[in-house]
Amino acid sequence: MSDRQDDKRGPRRVPLLPLRDIVVFPHMVVPLFVGREKSISALEEAMGKGAASGKEIFLSAQRKAKTNEPIPEDIFTIGTVGTIIQLLRLPDGTVKVLVEGKRRAAVRRFTQTDGFFMVEIEEVPDIQERSVELDALMREVHATFETYVKLNKRIAPEILISVQTIEDPGQLADTMVGQLQLKLGDKQSVLEMDSPSKRLARLYELIKAEIEILQVERKIRTRVKKQMEKTQKEYYLNEQMQAIQKELGDRDEFKNELTELEDRAKQKNLSKEALAKVKKELKKLRMMAPMSAEAAVVRNYLDWVLQLPWGEKTEEKLDVIDAERILDEDHYGLKKVKERILEYLAVQALVKKLKGPILCLVGPPGVGKTSLARSIAKATGRNFVRLSLGGVRDEAEIRGHRRTYIGALPGKIIQSLKKAGTQNPVFLLDEIDKMSTDFRGDPSAALLEVLDPEQNATFNDHYLDLDYDLSDVMFITTANYLQGIPIPLQDRMEIIQLPGYTEFEKVSIAERYLIPKQKRDNGIDNVPVDFPEDAVRDVIHYYTKEAGVRNLEREIATVCRKIARDVVAKKAPVRNVSDGAVPGWRITCKRLPRYLGPHRFRYGRQEGADEIGLVMGLAVTMHGGDLLATEVSIVAGKGKLVLTGKLGDVMQESAQAAISYVRARAPSLGLERDFYSRADIHVHLPEGAIPKDGPSAGITMCTGLVSALLRIPVRRDVAMTGEITLRGRVLPIGGLKEKILAAPRSGITTVIMPKENAKDLRDIPKRVLKTLKVVPVEHMDEVLRAALMLPKPEEFLTEPSVPVDWRQPVERRERERSDRRDDPSRMPVASAVPPPSAREDGPSDPSGREEPSSPGEPPASSPDTNALPPYPVPRLGEH
Ligand code: ADP
Repeated sequence: MSDRQDDKRGPRRVPLLPLRDIVVFPHMVVPLFVGREKSISALEEAMGKGAASGKEIFLSAQRKAKTNEPIPEDIFTIGTVGTIIQLLRLPDGTVKVLVEGKRRAAVRRFTQTDGFFMVEIEEVPDIQERSVELDALMREVHATFETYVKLNKRIAPEILISVQTIEDPGQLADTMVGQLQLKLGDKQSVLEMDSPSKRLARLYELIKAEIEILQVERKIRTRVKKQMEKTQKEYYLNEQMQAIQKELGDRDEFKNELTELEDRAKQKNLSKEALAKVKKELKKLRMMAPMSAEAAVVRNYLDWVLQLPWGEKTEEKLDVIDAERILDEDHYGLKKVKERILEYLAVQALVKKLKGPILCLVGPPGVGKTSLARSIAKATGRNFVRLSLGGVRDEAEIRGHRRTYIGALPGKIIQSLKKAGTQNPVFLLDEIDKMSTDFRGDPSAALLEVLDPEQNATFNDHYLDLDYDLSDVMFITTANYLQGIPIPLQDRMEIIQLPGYTEFEKVSIAERYLIPKQKRDNGIDNVPVDFPEDAVRDVIHYYTKEAGVRNLEREIATVCRKIARDVVAKKAPVRNVSDGAVPGWRITCKRLPRYLGPHRFRYGRQEGADEIGLVMGLAVTMHGGDLLATEVSIVAGKGKLVLTGKLGDVMQESAQAAISYVRARAPSLGLERDFYSRADIHVHLPEGAIPKDGPSAGITMCTGLVSALLRIPVRRDVAMTGEITLRGRVLPIGGLKEKILAAPRSGITTVIMPKENAKDLRDIPKRVLKTLKVVPVEHMDEVLRAALMLPKPEEFLTEPSVPVDWRQPVERRERERSDRRDDPSRMPVASAVPPPSAREDGPSDPSGREEPSSPGEPPASSPDTNALPPYPVPRLGEH
């Protein structure tokens, strides 16, 4: 490091030590291992010259490291003349020598090539230069070298300190270059530069490149390290898990299960998406501990997917004639319904794809909706599956819960398809009108997707999280009320109404279908049982009250069960051998209570007498049509209206309308104008526990009101249905068929109905219409004439209703009123009822207030004050 003190010396001869793969720079101390004979001789020569030669030796690199016997051309001419600091002979004959580079020198001539090389050298001094640029370059190189040292762990930090103290640019370059890992060529080229600034600049470039390489290296190293850590960790954990599982002894079982699942997945015709999902889940499962909760979830999921039908289908039959035969075999009557179903099937047969609307069978319970759907399945060769939607209020029940929920399951649609076992069953969605909506989402929205042929090819259940194809499923829905079905759903469906059976139809169904079926089901197929028609009729009359035949079937089943018990107990059957009959069971009307208990319903007996304020309305309930008694009572009070019997809003409004009509018509009815302010009206519909609503009770309530006010009884054999307006017009209603079918069941002979509904009578069996008198009406007056017990109905309420002219001044109204009081013949009265003032006992108003009158009212057309009615005179008081 102190060559500045060493004198520069002229050309001289020194031994040469050819170097492999190393370039020694001035100021550099390096240990060298020398093995070649020639080289050792050269060292010995240098040492032998003693202190005079200063143990000088010329160190120059071979062009190629591999050359063993180099000739002068193989050796670079520029090298470093150095001194031997130490020489050590090793036991294996080689020599370890410590040399220090002193100065650059060039070979002028090889003076000896035998044995070892002697060369004549000439020193190459550094060009002396100093400039600002060089200073800047030095600083830059210092900084870069610092970065390099930090990145390169192999360089000791002390080097940095010693380098920082060097001020000579040439020495700086030579010192630093030794620390860099450069190629031999690069080092040699630096050595050959005699200008320190050039050397530094080149060095600067080389360090920069080195730094870049180091940085990339570092990046790669960290990435590889991370990756290694991860794989190592996984490997370690897996090994550990397997060891644990081995300890627990269930690994083999688990393996078997996995293979089984794999096999099942292969056998199934899974969709592409499903297959990918199954594979993914299987992979996950393989990594899990078999007994863990997560594994159970995955296993469950796979089980669901693999149990679903994927492409499994039954062969479809599309023979309409065969379908007709099956429908007729299973069901009596229902001509129109069967026709609609057959048309539907015919279209499906032609278009080959279920793209049409969904069938929706609407009707009361027990009319055969479910069994029709079953027959359709039979006729089309499809499996049958049924799902009741009654009470479903959560979208997730249809679509399933996401798997993240504990205990999640697929929705009911997917569950039912698993039950069906094929992808093309007849799928009955029962009671679609009984779904409700709450904060958990609207199930009907999910159903819309299920039922839409455009969307249901990719039905996505939340649990499966896969598209499932529902387009081959034949959906059929049922409902009790059309009104209960959400409108968007109604739009998708073809509604077929099954209104209920007549008594005649019920008897036929019982005899042809229900009795043989129940005998079969109860194992008394071969036992002679005589169930005559009148006994069946009695079961219908006294033990059931329904539009369908479900309870009838139940009662028949009860009879069959009792007979079965007798057969098993070997109780002697009734023998009636005298008239030639075979011994067996005979169910007569008289014996029925023995089988079914006392009569449960009244039949054919109306109310005991024609009563005031009691009217029979007709309504549609979930059992089909039914009679609904309406009671009206008037008591002294202050004009309060009380409605009881769980009436809905619409019914309450109908009651209000009825009262307004009666108030407007008060003069014509012979009532005082302010009768309302002195009486309380109570309208009650018994069977109060059942909520009732609908507009069709308007005329019923109005009739009851008039009857109660005028104290004229209502005919007990009359039932009615119709909506009322404030002017007394009778508006049409729905469900006429059900209502009319219900009438004969309760011994009604006359039905009052809106005239506008007359067109619906076409649907009613002639057999029923023959037993009934149907009175179509347009106005409330006609209702009253037909329903009240009037001696001369044609004379009742003949004058038109005229509204009061409220524009006239009060005084004039008062005057007219008092005029009228003086002339009883001008009193507006119902022709059959005397005016209150014409009565002997007069109005029962203790206050003696003036009676309200209506000016502007036209004079009564035929005031017949002599025609006193045969009823108690109307009195506003309790009755
Ligand atoms: P719903 O689904 O309309 O409530 P079901 O289909 O369950 O009624 O019918 C109840 C019972 O009545 C079934 O045993 C069915 O076979 C029988 N049934 C209904 N209508 C008929 C009919 N027209 N012919 C023969 N049996 C019938």
